[in-house]
Amino acid sequence: MSNIVAIVGRPNVGKSTLYNRLTESRKAIVDDFSGVTRDRHYGTSEWTDHQFTVVDTGGYVANSADVFETAIREQVMIAIEEATVILFVVDVTTGITDLDDEIATLLRKGNKPVFVVVNKVDNTSQVSDATEFYSLGLGEIYTLSSMTGSGTGELLDEVVKHFEDVPLEENNRPKYAIVGRPNVGKSSIINALIGKERNIVTPIAGTTRDSIHIHYNQYGHDFMLIDTAGLRKKTKVKENIEFYSVMRTIKALEEADVVILMIDAVEGIESQDINIFHLAEKNKKGIVIVVNKWDLIEKNSKTVKVFEEQIRQKVAPFTDVPIVFTSVLEKQRVLKVIDVANKVYENRARKIPTSKLNEVMLPIIENYPPPSIKGKYVKIKYITQIAGATPMFAFFCNLPQYIKDPYYRFIENQLRENFEFTGAPIQVWFRQK
Ligand code: GDP
Ligand code: GDP
Repeated sequence: MSNIVAIVGRPNVGKSTLYNRLTESRKAIVDDFSGVTRDRHYGTSEWTDHQFTVVDTGGYVANSADVFETAIREQVMIAIEEATVILFVVDVTTGITDLDDEIATLLRKGNKPVFVVVNKVDNTSQVSDATEFYSLGLGEIYTLSSMTGSGTGELLDEVVKHFEDVPLEENNRPKYAIVGRPNVGKSSIINALIGKERNIVTPIAGTTRDSIHIHYNQYGHDFMLIDTAGLRKKTKVKENIEFYSVMRTIKALEEADVVILMIDAVEGIESQDINIFHLAEKNKKGIVIVVNKWDLIEKNSKTVKVFEEQIRQKVAPFTDVPIVFTSVLEKQRVLKVIDVANKVYENRARKIPTSKLNEVMLPIIENYPPPSIKGKYVKIKYITQIAGATPMFAFFCNLPQYIKDPYYRFIENQLRENFEFTGAPIQVWFRQK
């Protein structure tokens, strides 16, 4: 399921502040100037039992004034097409502006749930000012202060009611999403894998080619490929190409079991790639990194090692990820990508019997117990894998609160060394026994 909450609105109404509030990312930059480049525009959020992705369209605003309104209009259209729910942010301190009216007109024509979020209502005396926004004709309004966080809970209670929490399509085939920046070779690898079957693509109005599911059943492999390649929506504003492809990437990623992240060997791993990597990790997806266009690299005996090292440094701390070097052009290791993705799929679904887990891990813990704190010792009694789609382990002990980060990392590393979880995010909990 992919539930995407898109935050739209004109500049300076507080979209980015709300985004930070919802994703609690300390990294994103909030600035008094609009149009500031922000390093992250999407992230995961949770409310009650629902996980979803929040996209801040503000990060994709074009800088030049002449395309500015066009850019915002297009973003709203893309959000209407792609998002599950739209948060339309307006500013109580300025009231309704022309651009607000324009956006409201587009949103009224769309068929997606829209929440009018009246922001900067920092104190109750401003609540009555907010009633003006009913005239946007989008129904109920939600007053909040992104700065203090007040009002966000009431909003999210309503937002999550619109989520699709039942999978649209139930099947047991593994799902692999091929993602990466434009021009890394996504279309090429898909063509190399499926050849002429490519024609099953059903184009959707307004897009040159949509992300689609391709059933692959050859050479003993049976899985679904989720293709995000060739997503070049016709757009007048170049920033929106990125915005659009990000929306599609998030959707494909959330649906997938394993994410195949393609990187251009010449350009190396960039911040956008790292963002996708972390999003996949946060969503507990299996991950395979593919370094394509390997034919363009001058190589010696150390080149692979150097590349691997650089990539692992950038994606740290989750470094136990397979990296495959391909040349789709020269048909090198294309099928290996699928073999590795299958392996990661297995690793992600791997269940370790409790007896085996205890037999292996308890002696390791005995040799290297958690450090004592103020003379108190943590005694780990037994370990069990928790049922779920991805590997999760509970370590039962007397004083779970005394376990610190380094010991979590130690335990995770030991699990990885002793069992095969390469490419799969794992979770470790210490629980009171
Ligand atoms: P964006 O351009 O829509 O993403 O807006 P920003 O998130 O960058 O916010 C624009 C300005 O409004 C910044 O100076 C924020 O600090 C301020 N702001 C955002 N939310 C609130 C709020 O709830 N109350 C007040 N008083 N100011 C806010
Ligand atoms: P996409 O935008 O990620 O779908 O990328 P494409 O598959 O359209 O590829 C972009 C360009 O890179 C095309 O010109 C391809 O022919 C080229 N390309 C793809 N794979 C390779 C490769 O392994 N080596 C080289 N040299 N070029 C490649």
